[in-house]
Amino acid sequence: MIDMMTNNEFQANTSSLNSSPVNWDVVIVGGGISGLTLACGLQSSGLRILVVEAQQQRQATERSLSYALSPLTSKIFRSLGLWEQIAPQITHFSRVLLSDADYPHWVEFCPKDLGEAAVYYCAEHKVLMAALLLRVATASNITCYYETRVVEVHYGEQAAEVVLVGSQGQQQLRSTLVVAADGINSQIRSSAGIKTNGWAYWQSCITAVVAPEQSHQNIGYERFWASGPLAILPLPNNRCQIVWIAPHAEAQAIVALPSDQFMTKLRRYYGDQMGKLTLLSQPLVFPAQLMQSRRYCLPRLVLLGDAAHCCHPVGGQGLNMGIRDAAALAQVLQTAQQQFQDLGSLAVLKQYERWRRYENWIVLAFTDILNRSFSNQWLLLVRLRRLVLRLMKNWSFLRRLLLQLMTGLWGRKLQLSALSAHEVSSSNGSVK
Ligand SMILES: Cc1cc2nc3c(=O)[nH]c(=O)nc-3n(C[C@H](O)[C@H](O)[C@H](O)COP(=O)(O)OP(=O)(O)OC[C@H]3O[C@@H](n4cnc5c(N)ncnc54)[C@H](O)[C@@H]3O)c2cc1C
Repeated sequence: MIDMMTNNEFQANTSSLNSSPVNWDVVIVGGGISGLTLACGLQSSGLRILVVEAQQQRQATERSLSYALSPLTSKIFRSLGLWEQIAPQITHFSRVLLSDADYPHWVEFCPKDLGEAAVYYCAEHKVLMAALLLRVATASNITCYYETRVVEVHYGEQAAEVVLVGSQGQQQLRSTLVVAADGINSQIRSSAGIKTNGWAYWQSCITAVVAPEQSHQNIGYERFWASGPLAILPLPNNRCQIVWIAPHAEAQAIVALPSDQFMTKLRRYYGDQMGKLTLLSQPLVFPAQLMQSRRYCLPRLVLLGDAAHCCHPVGGQGLNMGIRDAAALAQVLQTAQQQFQDLGSLAVLKQYERWRRYENWIVLAFTDILNRSFSNQWLLLVRLRRLVLRLMKNWSFLRRLLLQLMTGLWGRKLQLSALSAHEVSSSNGSVK
C-alpha cells in the first residue's frame, strides 16, 4: 500500500527539503484521459504515482464529447487490459467515406485497407474514463486526489517540490518527476516558462449528438466544405456525433439557432443518406487552434497530451496523440527505472521528447494542410484535390498511406508488451 501522509507530515518534509525522502516517484497533474493512461501504463512498474485532478471525479468523467479512436489507440488500451471493458460500449467503423462537398467521387476506407479489425472506433469520454478509473482504483501504487489543484512547483536538483490546494487546505510534497497533463491551457507548462508555437484558426468547431432515422451502419463520414469539414461519427444505440467546422461568426450563429433551424442547416451540409435526423444534445462550440510546445521537458518536468500540443479537430487526432504520448512516456520511464536512471533527469526525458515531438509535428502539419487545402474554393486547388480523391478511390496503396498517417501506425513502434504486464491487485489504491 502507498504510504499516505498527513498535512503536517508534508509540511515537516518540505522544511528540510534537501535531506527529506521523496514522497512520490511521479506526480501527474491532470486526471484527464492522457494523464490516467500514463498512470495505467506505469501500474506494473511499482513506481509510486499520484494523480492530481482539479475537478470532482464526476465532472472529469462526464464531459459531453466523443472521440474517433485509431487502431493504434485500441492496441494501447488492449495492452493496458482495458479493451475488454471499452469495446462493447463503442462503435467499430465498418467504413469511412471521405468526400469533397458535392463532388460525386467518394473515397471509401475499409478495414482491409489497413489490415486491422476496424478503420476507426468512436468512444464517448465517459466510457474511456470509466475504464481508466476502474483500473486506477485497483492499482496499489496509484493514488488520485480530486478537487485538488497544483498551484506551484519548484524544480530542485534531487526532486520537485509540489504545492497542492484541495479541500483539506494546502499541502506540499516532493516527487522525482512532475508530468503536466493539465490540458491546453497548462499552468504547469507556462509557469515553467515553456513557450509554445501555433495559431488560432479562423474556424470554430460545433459538436452535437443526433439520432438518424435509418441505421448508421457503423459508417463514418468526413465531408469537406469550403467553410470547413463536417464529420459524422457513428455512436452506439444508433446515435451520431457531429463535429462541424465553420468560421467563428457562422459557428456562433449556428449554435444560437432554434433546434429545428439548426437541424435544417445541418441537413444541408450533411445530406439525407440516413433519413431524418433528431437532435439529442445541446450543440456546443469550441475554437480551433494549433499549438506545439517548444520543449516537452525540463529537468524533473515533462509535458503530455494537450499540455504539449493541440491540433485542428479535422481527422480526430488530438486525443490519439495524447494516448500515444502516454504509452511512449511509460515505456521510456520503465526502461530508465530498470537501468536505475534518475526518472527526472534530462537524459531520460529527452528520449521521450525526441520521439514524440517529432511525430506530433507530422500530425499537426498534416491536419493543418488537410484543413487548408479543403477549406477554400480556389479553382486550381479544387481540381488538384479532386484528382487526388479520384486517385485514392482507385489505388489502395494511397488509401493505406493516408490511413497509416492518420492512425499513427507509421511512427516508431511502441513496445506494447511493456504496458501489458498490468498488475490487478485486490488491495485498492486510494481516491480522495
Ligand atoms: C470538438 C472537439 C472534438 C475532438 N474530437 C477528437 C477526436 O475525435 N479524436 C481525438 O483523438 N481527439 C479529439 N479532440 C481532442 C481531445 O478532446 C483532446 O486532445 C483531449 O481531450 C486532451 O486530453 P488531455 O487529457 O491531454 O487534456 P484534458 O482533457 O484537457 O485534461 C486535463 C485535465 O487537467 C485538469 N487540470 C487542469 N489544471 C490543473 C491543475 N492545476 N491541477 C490539477 N488538475 C488540473 C483538468 O481539470 C482536466 O481534467 C477533440 C477536441 C475538440 C475540442
